[in-house]
Parts: sequence; C-alpha cells; structure tokens
Amino acid sequence: MREYRDKTVQEAAACTCDRCGRRMAPDDAQWEWYEKVSLDWHGGYGSVFGDGAHMRLDLCQHCVRDTLGPWLRVDPPAAPDGPLQALKGVVRQPDAPVSVEQMSPAAWELREGEKDEGEQR
Ligand SMILES: [Zn+2]
Repeated sequence: MREYRDKTVQEAAACTCDRCGRRMAPDDAQWEWYEKVSLDWHGGYGSVFGDGAHMRLDLCQHCVRDTLGPWLRVDPPAAPDGPLQALKGVVRQPDAPVSVEQMSPAAWELREGEKDEGEQR
C-alpha cells in the first residue's frame, strides 16, 4: 500500500519578453502567452558563447517577427483533421480551398440527392 504526501509544484505564471519587456501570462485575453518563444540551451564544444555556457531567451511573437522575420520559414496552416476532413468527398473541387460554409450546403445537396434516389426506387 502506498502512502502519499502533498507536493508543491511550480509552473510558469508569467513571462517577460527580453527584448521589449511585454509581460505575457496564460490568463491574458490577448493570447500572447501561447505565441511566445522561449529558448534554453547549453553551449557545447566550439560554441560561440563558450563551452558549457547556459543561454536563455524569451521573446514575444512581435519581437520574433521583428528580429528573425527575414529568416523564418512560415507555412500556411495545415488542412484541418477530423470532422471537416470527412466532408472532403462531398466537395466538388477537392483541390481548391473550401470554407465550412461552402461544405455544409454541398453535404445537404448530397443527402437530398440520395433521398430522391430512394423515393424513385
Ligand atoms: Zn517583445
């Protein structure tokens, strides 16, 4: 039989951008917390920062764009998985981007067509 005791665990409650000073917290309404970039690494042999040096950096998304923007490779969002993917077959042009609003009428048209075929039999 196991016995348990309470344990205090710390979690990051806020983060300040090292470049501009923007304070970001998980409960902020602007969602900045979820777009921040944090780096934490140790230099190895031959590191320009020194062998074994410890580097840390927290940047808000705005400073990431402003400092690293020219070198970032930004891809558009991937196609959604899940229920929307199931409707792919009912879209008339499967290779063209389609909004959810466009998918729904196509799905209803297909259902109505199937219903009509059933009545004719
Ligand atoms: Zn910043």
